[in-house]
Amino acid sequence: MLRKSFQFSAIYFRNYGRSSFIRAKSETLDKVLVDKPNKIKWDTIRNEIQLNEKTVNEFNIDSLILSKCFNGAQLDVALSYINFLQSKSLEINDASVSKLIRLYYKHFTAKREEFTKSQEDEILKWCKIIIDRHETLDASTAENIVHGLSLTHRWKDAFKYFDHIKMSGKELSDSVYSCILSKAIENDSYSIIWDLLNEMSENQVVPRSYVFIQWFNKHINDEDKVNEMLEYISDNHILLPEIDIQNFSDALKPKYTCSFVSINRNGRCPSCLQKLPGVKLLETEFNKIAAQFLEDIFIRNDVWLKTNPSEIKRFKEFIDKTKPYDSVIDGLNVAYSQGDKLSPKVYSKILAQVVKYFVDKKEKCLVIGRKHMKFWPKKEMSYVRENSMLFLTEDLSNDDLFLLYAALKSGPKTNIFSRDLMRQHSHLLSPKMKKVFRRWQQEHQYHLITAQQKVIVREPITFELRAHRVNSIWHLPFTNENIKNTVDTFILPACWLCLKRT
Ligand SMILES: [Zn+2]
Repeated sequence: MLRKSFQFSAIYFRNYGRSSFIRAKSETLDKVLVDKPNKIKWDTIRNEIQLNEKTVNEFNIDSLILSKCFNGAQLDVALSYINFLQSKSLEINDASVSKLIRLYYKHFTAKREEFTKSQEDEILKWCKIIIDRHETLDASTAENIVHGLSLTHRWKDAFKYFDHIKMSGKELSDSVYSCILSKAIENDSYSIIWDLLNEMSENQVVPRSYVFIQWFNKHINDEDKVNEMLEYISDNHILLPEIDIQNFSDALKPKYTCSFVSINRNGRCPSCLQKLPGVKLLETEFNKIAAQFLEDIFIRNDVWLKTNPSEIKRFKEFIDKTKPYDSVIDGLNVAYSQGDKLSPKVYSKILAQVVKYFVDKKEKCLVIGRKHMKFWPKKEMSYVRENSMLFLTEDLSNDDLFLLYAALKSGPKTNIFSRDLMRQHSHLLSPKMKKVFRRWQQEHQYHLITAQQKVIVREPITFELRAHRVNSIWHLPFTNENIKNTVDTFILPACWLCLKRT
């Protein structure tokens, strides 16, 4: 199995790195990993840690020492410690067993060691100890059990513990899904694979890279199967981590010419010279989003919290009279693009420059502002008033909603100008419609880059920022940023793989 250790260091950091145990740094504790102690030394170390660390007690000492072993997946050290505890007839509590199971997983996946029958029996034995002690497991223990079971022939038992995690109110993590997916791929259990992938898609959880890489390695000779997974990556707008790009390339290169390319804002691939396809929405798709917002979401009072009903009425009448607009600007959001501690003079200058940008393009624009902007410097605000329609809302109103309402009422060609990604509004849509909304946003949302009061307008990138195929060539995007979804950020991926089947 192909798995990279950094994936697990990320898990380690998330699950264990912030615990107060680990923060309680101790030189004695560090010796655990350096010295690989024998039974005699364990006695000394255990006593010293308890003497030196105020937060450590008889109950958490074992779990603390085992946590240390995650550093470098030192299973041998952990097992030596467990042997020591057993030799002293000390009880190994749930927290310690649970950590030991997770450590088994980390060790065998990070180090890609052969996994023997007796090791499998060991893991199952530890899992059974915990399972027998409790009818229901807490989420963290259930997660560790799932990881442990994923190494064994009893991996399908893990689904029971998926339920325990869900019952505790926690969502299943990418790691939980991915470890079982990996086992399902190993066993060619296609219905399980696609059920899990579809569930992840619904829950907006992205599989770990090693799952995709394992699939490509396994099915590289079957073009349909490779395409099936590439389409999943595309449909779910998955942006892959750049750190894995070489592994993707290695998995695909037996059957593909793989070029690492960077694609600039004009959207032409320097390798295959194709222009990447546009993200343009169909009019029917726009109409669906507009209908959902205008006929459903905007009708509900809960989205207009803090907004005076008479103001909404006044705004709707105003839009009906003055629409359509070529562009709608969130005035305050744009003005505050350099921070909210500057003077009204700076804010009004930025706003006036943005209005000028659209005026120069001979566009009819609407600026949505707040009432307190009336007191901003006259010169700039007069320019704004004379060159755009200005609607001022109460100071506490939710400007995004006004912006969206005006834009969707104006039609499919209207652009919006805001730094806000409007996630709280897109979350109100079904997952499918959310993706369409995000494409609309990508196509129509202008951004602002400001440096020392100089305004630079960033026009939308209008080509696909997700994996896609044109003329049987796939382009696969990678990013070095800590995000998993391009459409959520509209950033230009740092690097692409241009893939041509040979
Ligand atoms: Zn290309």
